[in-house]
Amino acid sequence: MLEQYVALRDEIEAQYPGAMLLFQCGDFYETFGEDAERAARLLNIALTHKSSKDFSTPMAGIPIRTLDSFVERLLGKGVCVAVAEQMELPGAGLVERKVTQLLTPGTVTEERHLTADENYLAAVATGDGYALAVLDVSTGEFRCAAFGSRTALYDELARWRTREVLLAPELSENPALLADFKSRFPLMLSHGNFEAVACREALEAVLGEVPGVLDGQGSAGLTRACGAVLGYARSIHAGVQGGDLKMVRRLNRFEPGAHMRLSDWALRALEIFTAQSPQGRTLMDALSETRTAGGRRRLRAWLRSPLLDRLSLQARLDAVETLTRASDLRGGVRALLYRAHDLERLSARVSSGRATPREVAALARTLELLPDAAELLGAVSGGGLLGGVRARLGALPDVVRLIRAALVDEPPIRISDGGLIREGFHAELDGLRGEALGHRAWLAELERSERERTGIGSLKVGYNTVFGYYLEVTGPHLSKVPGDYRQIATLKDRARFTRSDLREREREIARLEQAAERLEVEVFTELRAGLAIHADALSEAAGALSELDVLCALAEIAAVRAWSRPQTLEAGQRDVNLKQARHPVVELVSGGNFVPNDAELSAARRTLLLTGPNMAGKSTYLRTVAMCALLHQIGSFVPADEAHLPVFDSIHTRIGASDDLAGGRSTFMVEMHELAGILHHATPQSLIILDEVGRGTSTLDGLAIAQAALEHLHETGAYTLFATHYFELTRLEGQLPGLINLHVAAEEEAGALTFYHQVIPGAARQSYGVEVARLAGLPARVTTRAAALLGGLNAEKGDRTRALHADLAALDLTRLTPLDALALLHRWQAEL
Ligand code: ADP
Repeated sequence: MLEQYVALRDEIEAQYPGAMLLFQCGDFYETFGEDAERAARLLNIALTHKSSKDFSTPMAGIPIRTLDSFVERLLGKGVCVAVAEQMELPGAGLVERKVTQLLTPGTVTEERHLTADENYLAAVATGDGYALAVLDVSTGEFRCAAFGSRTALYDELARWRTREVLLAPELSENPALLADFKSRFPLMLSHGNFEAVACREALEAVLGEVPGVLDGQGSAGLTRACGAVLGYARSIHAGVQGGDLKMVRRLNRFEPGAHMRLSDWALRALEIFTAQSPQGRTLMDALSETRTAGGRRRLRAWLRSPLLDRLSLQARLDAVETLTRASDLRGGVRALLYRAHDLERLSARVSSGRATPREVAALARTLELLPDAAELLGAVSGGGLLGGVRARLGALPDVVRLIRAALVDEPPIRISDGGLIREGFHAELDGLRGEALGHRAWLAELERSERERTGIGSLKVGYNTVFGYYLEVTGPHLSKVPGDYRQIATLKDRARFTRSDLREREREIARLEQAAERLEVEVFTELRAGLAIHADALSEAAGALSELDVLCALAEIAAVRAWSRPQTLEAGQRDVNLKQARHPVVELVSGGNFVPNDAELSAARRTLLLTGPNMAGKSTYLRTVAMCALLHQIGSFVPADEAHLPVFDSIHTRIGASDDLAGGRSTFMVEMHELAGILHHATPQSLIILDEVGRGTSTLDGLAIAQAALEHLHETGAYTLFATHYFELTRLEGQLPGLINLHVAAEEEAGALTFYHQVIPGAARQSYGVEVARLAGLPARVTTRAAALLGGLNAEKGDRTRALHADLAALDLTRLTPLDALALLHRWQAEL
């Protein structure tokens, strides 16, 4: 058996390196050797040993019925899984086993293995820059883009939150690049075929051609990346699941520059999709008013790619505004959306011929909602985004009618379960069923008629799996059994009989039912293929529904949370004005206690230097501005009473070392690395959020770097919000014409610190570090001692400065010789 295991294992390893083989042994799926160690670690299951006289190997197994949940966990950890099942009942010899399922994080399509969100598989290749292809087989979405730099590629890849990435050999075989890649995207590297010819073939096989969008800049790399994802997904699907990739219908090329630049760090620092602490909440959480899975995915896509184009932005804002006002319409649409199934995925499954009867029924139920939604939208005037949505919802009444006519209301999950096609849809099927029914009626009648004929009142018709139908007569009546009965079983006090016509009827019923079942499969498959013809209209409608869901969600939020429509500034204008702005996430969790703040930025106020004690609300203020800018550019209202915002080309953030998990030198390197990226990419249209930059190193270094960075950013003209505890920086006001000091109000009274969370002009007086420490519960002895030390340090510093001043003032430069000067310098230095 282990030899069989090793052979299968090698086969899988050759094709899908790193995949884990789950090997059925009776009621368990076992893993052996290194896989067992890995499984034990990843799944937290017991590691045992299998040994005989010649060998011993680690072994770890899971019960058969828990397969799905374990597979899900493995996929979640980026591990590909091959499942080898026993193909026959265990007998004397070795049981035949075959790999029946191959599952990888980026290619699964079964609902039970998918998360509600996107499921992207990506491929990266080089050739005139970098090329990226992303594919979601669960919806058929297929996109590609070319990038000039690796950073741009990394940023883009991070936005997609891909579950699995294929790296071209020129990248994966370069140890430095591979290490860099792995440090950013751990756990999800797989190998694909990037060979140019194979890639073109894969594209042709799936899309019928090598799409024209691949021509031009970066063509070779793009073709390889696109071909590699398709080839990989096909090999997984075709290999075991027997499907092809019919759900993939077109390739969209996007221009990375067409959207706002949001670095990977900005996404993380602003907690758009993932929180930095386990209990933290993300912007996505705060916006989760969508009602459908497709809507949720669309909202993520919008957040991932904020718009730069003013017209598209206005179109979204107009639609949101309309829906904000029309609360009945919004309520009506949302009630419909609530009943919708995942139309994008259902359409993809229909197109690829994988939809189950139950899924097809769900498709019909969802499509039935579309005309109602379109009608509701009819109430709002004219064109715009909502008009477009309405047109695309285009009803598809034929499809609904067809499915309704063909399928029963509650069809089974599997086609083979039978009983899915509705009475009256297919004449031949009805005929077969009618005939079978006739025989069954005869059987049902048999007991009564035989009792009458034989005069045996207790005669029964029974059924068991061994004999099929039989007639049962109890002991006292055996003498009355007629001659056409043939005895088949004798029990203690009764006997069972059959009759030749009974056998015949039975066989006939089985034959008819089997034929009906086969025919049902045929009819259903045909129905599904017929639906696939509508794939384009289906995916149009699915897209429209998702878009409508997002627009309604944004409108709902705007209406309920009193957000307002931001005014988009014209191209030449840049004066940001936010009145009473709130942080969308903190506002939600602060239960009505959030303190709103204004924000003003312009050429004369392009660098805002924010000081104030820890915990005063500096970070929150910085992020509030960034959040408003981001929400504006996805076409949402913003959490403010009034907002005037330009179109930012990028939002960059650097959140200080104190917030990082790791400590020491490497943290500082990371910080500088990120800062370098920001300084290189800042433009006059950028919004830059820097929070406690420079903390990762000694005070003087940190201060120097912070100041130099500030000066540089001030020079570029970018809008910069800079929160810092370096009070020394506040003296830059007056030196840099566009730099303004702000601070967050706090008050100390009798050793207690009160935060007002209010941002007001001017620099903070002091850092209140000791008071914050007291608030945090440091023992009184420690804080008292710290306060004393601080007083001493300040006094000492003051004394030394005073002494130096006095020395300098007393100098008579006309009489100072160079030697005296040197001696003085030497003394001062020694005193430092
Ligand atoms: P800092 O950056 O100054 O250390 P934070 O911005 O992290 O402070 O804020 C500390 C805490 O204060 C936040 O977790 C939040 O709960 C609260 N907070 C901040 N700003 C406000 C505000 N404007 N209104 C109400 N609570 C706020």
